Amino acid sequence: MKVSPMETIFNVLNETAIILQEELHCSYLEALAETGENLFHENIIQDELSELTQKRLMKKYEEINLESYSKEQIRKSYQLAILKGMKDSVQSNHQMTPDSIGLFMSYLINKFTEGKNTFSLLDPAIGTGNLVSTILNHIEDKEIVSNGVDIDDLLIKLAFIGANLQRQPIQLFNQDSLENLFIDAVDVVVSDLPVGYYPNDNGATKYALKADKGHSYAHHLFIEQSINYTKPGGYLFFLIPNGLFESEEAPKLHKYLSEQVIIQGVLQLPISMFKHSNSAKSILILQKKKDEIKTPKQVLIANLPTLSNQSAMEKMIDKINHWFKENKN
Ligand code: SAM
Repeated sequence: MKVSPMETIFNVLNETAIILQEELHCSYLEALAETGENLFHENIIQDELSELTQKRLMKKYEEINLESYSKEQIRKSYQLAILKGMKDSVQSNHQMTPDSIGLFMSYLINKFTEGKNTFSLLDPAIGTGNLVSTILNHIEDKEIVSNGVDIDDLLIKLAFIGANLQRQPIQLFNQDSLENLFIDAVDVVVSDLPVGYYPNDNGATKYALKADKGHSYAHHLFIEQSINYTKPGGYLFFLIPNGLFESEEAPKLHKYLSEQVIIQGVLQLPISMFKHSNSAKSILILQKKKDEIKTPKQVLIANLPTLSNQSAMEKMIDKINHWFKENKN
């Protein structure tokens, strides 16, 4: 039976990760990061391994030549291996952004940056890098200067290795994004926001969107921080919980957004994409205010169909194109 390129790469990543997991007594995801590094350097970087194990690994690595695969083939097989490792060890808030959402985000970013040959991008919750890599692989005709931040050292290591394997130059920072960032303001922010409480009450005090009492919502602070790091006129694309504008902190968020940004769109993803209806999400599109920028006549509001339903998606794309003609030209 013919094995697809994706399966071939996945098999090498998976089998070598299992060998390293046993030899290094670490988790599958840690072993995946190690094997990804070996593959990238075309060398075994773990000196402590026996000669026999090193030989077994090298033999596997020789089955593939990364340069003969597309970036998307590499991303998808790496993503499959990460998903395998995440199955039982990662909390839901740290889950990778699914492909279908990444693809749709790429389409939106491409559309909103029409006419620009180059732009800078920041994902302040980059996680494994899957969302940003999907975007970079699908907007290849523009030069994108990309930055990513994440507090989780294993996830950002996976992002770093994924970027190397796909030959994508992304600047990565392992830190709390709600502290000061070492990044200049960007043209585009994209983020699958971590949802929940921010435990650092002291750190939250500098934010207008901090809670009056108790812990603040991390996702609200992330929105404010992202706006801080966006150039006037720049766009922000967030994956948000559907209930964002319904919590007791929502009036403050509404007021803050109306002062700082123009809401361009709210696109609700199909509930069927999520395990529970209360974890369903939408895409929120904002533009940071700038003197000459006009508010759209109408905010782009839509319930997206199942993203794999081609004919329904084509109708949705027509609707979005029509909105662009009426509101953005
Ligand atoms: N888009 C990512 C991907 O494709 O893998 C998934 C993002 S995941 C839903 C949210 C991320 O926010 C997690 O990776 C988590 O580690 C990160 N995060 C949570 N709190 C953070 C903080 N204070 N600073 C930076 N990153 C944070």
